[in-house]
Amino acid sequence: MALIVQKYGGTSVGSIEKIRAVAERVINTAKQGHRMVVVLSAMAGQTDGLIRLAHQLNRDPDPRELDVLMSTGEQASVALFAIAVKSMGHEACSLLGFQAGIHTDDLYGKARIHDVEPGRIIRNLDQGRIVTVAGFQGIDGRGDITTLGRGGSDTTAVALAAALNADVCEIYTDVNGVYTTDPNICPKARKMDFIAYDEMLEMASLGAKVLEIRSVEFAKKFNVPIHVRSTFANERGTMVVAETKDMEKVAVSGVAYNKNEARVTIRKAPDQPGIASRIFEPVFKAGIVVDMIVQNTSQDGMTDLTFTVPKTDFYKTMKLVTDVAVKIGAERVLGDEDIAKVSIIGVGMRTHAGVAKKMFETLARENINIIMISTSEIKISCVIEEKYTELAVRVLHSTFGLDADPGKTSQQ
Ligand code: ADP
Ligand code: ASP
Ligand code: MG
Repeated sequence: MALIVQKYGGTSVGSIEKIRAVAERVINTAKQGHRMVVVLSAMAGQTDGLIRLAHQLNRDPDPRELDVLMSTGEQASVALFAIAVKSMGHEACSLLGFQAGIHTDDLYGKARIHDVEPGRIIRNLDQGRIVTVAGFQGIDGRGDITTLGRGGSDTTAVALAAALNADVCEIYTDVNGVYTTDPNICPKARKMDFIAYDEMLEMASLGAKVLEIRSVEFAKKFNVPIHVRSTFANERGTMVVAETKDMEKVAVSGVAYNKNEARVTIRKAPDQPGIASRIFEPVFKAGIVVDMIVQNTSQDGMTDLTFTVPKTDFYKTMKLVTDVAVKIGAERVLGDEDIAKVSIIGVGMRTHAGVAKKMFETLARENINIIMISTSEIKISCVIEEKYTELAVRVLHSTFGLDADPGKTSQQ
C-alpha cells in the first residue's frame, strides 16, 4: 500500500466531464489499496477570469483581497471533485489550504510555504477517504488566505508529498511529460524519461511552466520523486530525480522561453555611487522580483539602467521607479511589455566551448535582434521582441541538435 499524492492541473479538471474522469481514475487507484491525496487547480481559465474581474475595478488590486478572490477557483474544483467521488460511492473529503495545515508567510500573491501540519489529512486518510486539497493556497500567521504564485498548485502537491512522506508525487497535466522544450510550440520537442532536479530547476525558472519552480525546489530539498505525466494517456511520463546519467554529454539539453516579463529602462541617470541602490530600494521593498539587470557604461556622467520584472508587477514598478527617477534627476523611464526571454539550458555547457556564439549566430541568421543577454554556468538567456519567441525557440532547438528523429514528434 502506497501513499500517493496526485495533482491535476487546470485543463485536467476543465469541465464537469473531466472532473468525473479524474474522479474515476483516482478511485481506481484507491481501490488497489493506495492512500490518495489529490491536489487540484482551478478549472482552466478560472484564475485568469477572476484576475480580469478584479482588474475591471482596479489595475493594481489590493493584494490581500486578490488572494481571497483567486483562491475561490481551487475551492470550487475540490468541492466538485469530492461531490463526484462521493456520487460514485467512495468516501471523500475536500480541504482548503488552511484546513490542510498549509502555513505560509504573508507575501500575498507569492507566499512561501513555511510549514505543513498534515494531521487533518492523515485522520481523513485513516478513515478510508480520498482527500482532495485545494492547490495554490495557504494561510498566514494572521489567519488570512494567501496564494502561492501562478502555477502554485504544483508546489502544494510537492509540499504535501514531503510532509506526508509520500511514495511518489504525480503531476498530471496536458502533455506527456517534460520535453526538451514546450511541445505546444515546437513539434519536434522530445520527451525526456528522466530529468535531474537541477536541470528542471533551471528550466522552470526560465519559463518552462510544466512545473512551477518552487515545487522543484521543495522536491530537491526533501528528495521527493516527481512523476510528470498526462491526464489523458496512460503511458509513463518524466521522472524528476536527483541525478541522471549522461547529463554532461550534451552541451544544451533544453530550450525555455518566458513571455511573462516586462522591461523597465531608466534613461540618463546620474552615474554616482548609491544610484542603483536608490532605484531598486522601493522595488525590492514592494516584494517585486527583479530578474535581469544591465547597466550601460557611463557617458558624460550619465548612464542607462535596464531591468526586467514580472509583467504582473509592471505598472507598480513603473510607478515606483518614475517617482525615484524624478528625485535622482534621471531623464525619463521607459517601459516595454512586448518582450520575451529565450534561454538555452545545459549542465554540459560548463565543459563545451562556443555555445554562446552559436546561440547568437542562430538568432542573427533569423534577423532576431537581441535586446539583453544574461549568462550563468549552465544557461544563456536573451531578451528579444515577443513576436519572435516561437521562431527563436524552434531554431535554437534545431541548432543544438535537440529535434526528435524525423517522423517521431511530440505527439507520439
Ligand atoms: P497545468 O494546468 O496542468 O498545471 P501548465 O499549463 O501549467 O499545466 O503546464 C503545462 C504546459 O507547460 C504544457 O501545456 C506546455 O505548453 C508547457 N511547457 C512549457 N515548457 C515545457 C516543457 N519543456 N515540457 C513540457 N511542457 C512544457
Ligand atoms: N490556478 C492557479 C493558476 O492558474 C494555480 C495553478 O493552476 O497551479 O496559476
Ligand atoms: Mg501548472
